Amino acid sequence: MTGGQPAPPAAAHPPAKAGRPESLTHELRRVAGAATATAAAFGLVEAVVRILRDEVAIGGLRLLPAAALLYGVLGAAAAVAQVAVRRVAARLGPRARQPGWHVAAGTALAVIAGIAWPINRAWIGDAFSPAGLAVNGALLLLGVPVVACGLLPSCERVVGAATRVRWLRVRTAVLVVALGTALPWVAAVVVGGDSDAPSSGSGGRPRASGTAAGAGERPNVLLIVLDTLRADRLGCQGHRAATSPQLDALAARGVRFAECFAAAPYTKPSVASLLTGRLPPRLGVDPFGARLPAGERPLAAMLQAAGYRAGLFSANAFVAPTFGFGRGVEQYVGPQVSPAAALIGFHVLARLRDAWVEAAGLPEAPWRWYEALVSLPFDRSGARHDPRAPELVAELLRFVDAGAGAGRPWFAHLQLMETHAPYRPAPGQRVFADARAEMGLPEGAAHLFLPFRAALPLPEGELAALNATYDACVRTADAAVGEVVAALEARGLLDSTIVIVTSDHGEEFFDHGGFGHGHSLHRELLHVPLIWCAPERLPAGRVVASQVRLIDVVPTLLELLDVAAPPDAPALDGESLLPLLRRRSGESAEEEGATDRVAVATVEWGGSSAMALRDGQRTVIVARDGGDERVQYFDALADPNEQSDLAASRAEAAEAAATAAATLEALIRQLASDRVSTPAATLDPATKALLEQLGYLGG
Ligand SMILES: [Zn+2]
Repeated sequence: MTGGQPAPPAAAHPPAKAGRPESLTHELRRVAGAATATAAAFGLVEAVVRILRDEVAIGGLRLLPAAALLYGVLGAAAAVAQVAVRRVAARLGPRARQPGWHVAAGTALAVIAGIAWPINRAWIGDAFSPAGLAVNGALLLLGVPVVACGLLPSCERVVGAATRVRWLRVRTAVLVVALGTALPWVAAVVVGGDSDAPSSGSGGRPRASGTAAGAGERPNVLLIVLDTLRADRLGCQGHRAATSPQLDALAARGVRFAECFAAAPYTKPSVASLLTGRLPPRLGVDPFGARLPAGERPLAAMLQAAGYRAGLFSANAFVAPTFGFGRGVEQYVGPQVSPAAALIGFHVLARLRDAWVEAAGLPEAPWRWYEALVSLPFDRSGARHDPRAPELVAELLRFVDAGAGAGRPWFAHLQLMETHAPYRPAPGQRVFADARAEMGLPEGAAHLFLPFRAALPLPEGELAALNATYDACVRTADAAVGEVVAALEARGLLDSTIVIVTSDHGEEFFDHGGFGHGHSLHRELLHVPLIWCAPERLPAGRVVASQVRLIDVVPTLLELLDVAAPPDAPALDGESLLPLLRRRSGESAEEEGATDRVAVATVEWGGSSAMALRDGQRTVIVARDGGDERVQYFDALADPNEQSDLAASRAEAAEAAATAAATLEALIRQLASDRVSTPAATLDPATKALLEQLGYLGG
């Protein structure tokens, strides 16, 4: 469809009524009518092909009206653009100039290159892959005559005398718009085959095979984020139940950080912090609609700049291009909230929107209107598809295989929701007594905020069932990790791949009177697993007891890969963990303790907020709710589970807590002053419904 944009075919032709200049409205109606109809027709063809090939995850036959609308709008936009180009060209007096074919060809090449190149970069991944060449060739073949006709009426002579016949001219215009709309798709499908066709994802499917200089030696990187996984529910972290045989084995082959802390107790700020190495107050993504600021460089963008191809396979709707996590990502698969997301036109438009909003800073409103229009044929709740672990793992492996032998390393971020409520453990993993097939959280999670608003305790049996079902979910996630690891091993890639497994936050099971996550900064919400396995680069079986943080992951990885952060990337708050990773075992506890990193965490939840500081010796949590403030102080060594608030019982503890709180306050204010303004993301109704179902946005 984008092929239609540079094309001014109908506009090339003289007005319908000979002798008299055609009015602008008439010309617009004529050209837009033809373009809309033909573009919509090609959209329908694509939709039918996808339905027949069973590539439509949601919506079924309703993909047809979505396709007609999506492509129809694109056709109309292309028509308006070409009428505008022709009108401007006419004013410049093209007849007087009559440049030759070489000028026409040069103009066409420039226009086509300006459009085809970004499409290749964003969608196909490599301009010189078979699919890329086919698309570029199609655009070029189409573009040269089309641009020539649009800008230079004289070239009608070259195109052929036939186009001087009026009815043929109209048909030529229709044909050209139709071809411009359809050719990129046809080329990609014909040449690229199945794997080039986006199906369940909301992003283009790249076929990257380019070679980036200097990147060939670098290892692949797999980052697995098991959403909502408490560190203390893994066997290797001391849990009683057999929840994690695969993760325990992975830890035995690599390094396990026993005390790792997230910087926020729910997904978006925590993952933003993990992927940028920067603390949430700098990022400002706490509000539900907030998007990662344009100046931020998440890990995928940094690695892409270093020659990696990056894929994001995320079951969490917050970890999606909508919120700025698509930067640097060549392939995205995630919750599909509109059936139109199955169409190629949707992916290319999503890329164009990102460029429009993020790079050019132009208003997002036109895209919002278009998305609302395309979503019209669907109801809010029915039109979506939540991928589970098996599907995302399969997509990830396809991504790995697609670039095999290309000499370009890959970075894949897999974010699984198996441990996020509602808990739905795989049937084979419900090995614990009391575990149920499905269990949601109790009602009212959005109203909790500790220590101000706690939940009513659950009946004993219910809490046991909740815990057992969660454990079964941990086993389900663990099995998925085992599957990925086994698949990499079978491909001979495991030893040369850096595998990092972690979580974005934990989950409360009435440890402090709450459930779910987001409502406090206690240990059960911030203590997350962190396992690194890279047999060729890191020691095996090492356990680091020092306190570390998720913000340390990016600096560690950059140092391990010998990749410099891009010059425009903002400063990192984290520090490399390599000195800890490479230390010999057997050092004293004092030495370990001396390397504790100070972990800062923040949360804004509704009208409440909290900040926390952990230095390995003590934990200070400041919680605010309306005009109320509570400062708590816990002895991190004697009372790691934060059950006894010393600020309430000991004057010196209260004093130390107040000092720490003041320091924390000043630090967070300073971090926030560094924040770049954060534009809100567009939330379509289906995405909103999805987030509501996850327990967010609920009022
Ligand atoms: Zn999460």
